[in-house]
Amino acid sequence: MLVADELLKGKIPGAETGISVRKSICTICDPQTQCGLDVYVKDEIAVKVEGSKENPHSQGTLCSKGAATRQYVYHTDRIKTPLKRIGDKGSGEFQPISWDEALDTVAEKLNNHKAKSGPESVIFFAGYTKWMRLLLHRLAHSFGSPNYCTESSTCMRAMAMAWNLVFGTPAGPDIKNAACVLVWSANPFYSNTCLTSRLMDAKELGTKFIVVDPRLTPTAAMADIHLQLKPGTDGALALGMANVIINEGLYDQAFVAEHTHGFNEYREYVSLFTPEYAAELTGVPADKICAAARMYAVTKPAAFMPSAAPVVHHTNGVQNYRAAMSLIALTGNYDIPGGNIVMPKGYLQVSSGFSTRDHEFAMSKAWDEMAPRVGQQRFPLWCDLVDEGQSMDIPRQIVSGTPYPINAIMAFGMNYRMWPDSEGFLETLKKLDFFVNVDLFMTDTCKYADIVLPASSSIERSELRCYPQNYIIFTQPAIEPLYDSRSDADIIFELARRLKLKDPLFDAGYEAALDWILEPAGLTIGELKKRPGGMSIPNPIKQEARKYLQGGFKTPTGKVEFVSKMLEKYSQSHGYDSYSASRLRELPCAKLHEKLPE
Ligand code: SF4
Repeated sequence: MLVADELLKGKIPGAETGISVRKSICTICDPQTQCGLDVYVKDEIAVKVEGSKENPHSQGTLCSKGAATRQYVYHTDRIKTPLKRIGDKGSGEFQPISWDEALDTVAEKLNNHKAKSGPESVIFFAGYTKWMRLLLHRLAHSFGSPNYCTESSTCMRAMAMAWNLVFGTPAGPDIKNAACVLVWSANPFYSNTCLTSRLMDAKELGTKFIVVDPRLTPTAAMADIHLQLKPGTDGALALGMANVIINEGLYDQAFVAEHTHGFNEYREYVSLFTPEYAAELTGVPADKICAAARMYAVTKPAAFMPSAAPVVHHTNGVQNYRAAMSLIALTGNYDIPGGNIVMPKGYLQVSSGFSTRDHEFAMSKAWDEMAPRVGQQRFPLWCDLVDEGQSMDIPRQIVSGTPYPINAIMAFGMNYRMWPDSEGFLETLKKLDFFVNVDLFMTDTCKYADIVLPASSSIERSELRCYPQNYIIFTQPAIEPLYDSRSDADIIFELARRLKLKDPLFDAGYEAALDWILEPAGLTIGELKKRPGGMSIPNPIKQEARKYLQGGFKTPTGKVEFVSKMLEKYSQSHGYDSYSASRLRELPCAKLHEKLPE
C-alpha cells in the first residue's frame, strides 16, 4: 500500500497507480515547433506533462509555455460554454447558450449577410490558433467569400513575400551543415527550444554565428558578431554588408553572372550604402558591419536564418527582408547543403518528405469566381503572392464600405492588439453587424463579439502534425474536452453543415478530409491512428541541391531578382521600390549618384 502511495506521489504510470501516458502535442506557438507531449492521465485528469522523447523534433524538450500546459488547460478563466452577448459591446455581459443555439445563430446570420450583401461581406479570420487554418480557408471559399484572413499579414506570410520576390521560393537554413549562420532578428531561446538545441550543437562544433538583433538576447550572446542595430534599419544594414561584399570582390561572381537579374542596378543602389553611411543609419559601427560581411561571405557554406516576426512588423519589413535575403544570392548560398535549402512544403507548410493537397483543399473556389479580396486594391502585390486577404485593410474597409461592405467576421483567436493602431481597430469592430470569436479565454476582443464559442486545447482534441525530420503524428485526445468546449475542427465542420454549403469534403467529415489531403503521400488517418506516438514517413522525397539548374527560379525572369519585376509592375501605381534604374533616379538618395545605368 505504502509503495502504491509513493508510486502515485511520484506520478509513476502503471496498473498500481492507474496512471497512463498518452501522446499529444503542444500547439501554443507556431506550426514549425509543436513539441511532443507525454500527458500522464489518471481518472481522465492530466496529472503531469512532460516533453516526449519519442518526438524527433522536440526530443523531449519543452519551453516554459509547454511546461505550463496543465496550468493553461485547467485555468479557471477558461470559457466554459457558448455565450451570447446581452450587454453593450465591450461590457463583458454574456449569457450561456447551447451549442445548437450558438451554431444555428451563427449560420443564420452569416447566410443572411451572404444573401443581402454577397458572401464577400463575411470575413473568416484565424488569429492565435494555427492548426485549423486549412479548414477555415476552405470554409471561406466554399461559403463564397475570398476573405480568408489571418494575423500573418504582418508576420510569416509577409516574410515569405520577400523570399518570393527575390528567389520565387523560400529556403530554410541548413544549420547542421553550415559553417556560418547569419541569424536575422530571431531568438529561439525564448520560444523555440527545438531550434535552440540545434543552434547550440552547431556552436559547439565550431559554426560561426552572426546575430542581427536590437536586443542582447541569449542568441545574440552566443554570437561571434552581434550587430545591434536600431529597430527597423535592417535594410540599411543588409545593403551596407552587400556594399562590403561587392567592393571587396567577395561575392560569388559565377552565381551572380549565371543566375541573377539586375545585378548592375543593385550594385549601383548598394554603392550608396557605404559602411559609414550604413553605420549612421543603423547605429552599428562600420567596422562591425565590415567584419560581419566578410565572415558571412567567406565562411562557406553559410545559412541565413530569419524570423517570421520582428522585421515584418515594421512598415518597410518586406523590403528590409528583401535586402537581407539578397545577401544569400550574392554569396551563392541558395539551395546548397549548409546554406539555405529549398524543400517542398507539406501539410501546413512544413517540409516533411511528402506532398499533400493543402492548396487544392484550401482553394475550393478559385479567386476569379469570387469578389476581390480585402486589401486587393491597396496591396495588389500581397494578393499576387499570398492566398489570403490582407488583414491590415480590414478596418479601412469596415469603415468605408468600399469597394463593398464588410458586415460580419467569423474569427478564431482574434486579438485586436495584433493590429497596428489597435484601439482604432477595436472601434471598427464595434461597427460590425455580427462578430463571432472562438477562444479558450475571455479576451478583451471576445467582449466585443456577439457570440463567443469555447475552444478546446491541443491535449483535448485530435490533430495532424508533421515535422521536418520526415515524421508525422495524428494525436488522439489525451483527455476529454473540458467543460462544454469543442475542437476548432468540430466547430468548422458543424458550421459548414449548418451553412448548407454542399461541400463533399465537409460533408465527409474531418478525418475523411485529412485522408483526401494526404492521399498523394499514400498515408491515411486510419494507419496513423495505429501509431499514437507518430511514425517516420516511408520513402521520404529525396532532395537534390541546386534544383534551379533544372527549371530556373520561380520569378518572372526565371532568375534570382536583385531588381524585382513584380515590384516594378507596381512602381508607378503604388510607389514600390524595385531598385530598377528608373526608380532609382526618383529616390532622394539618388543625388549621391554620379552615374546611373541607362
Ligand atoms: S516551443 Fe514551447 S510553446 Fe512552442 S510548441 Fe514547444 S513547448 Fe509549446
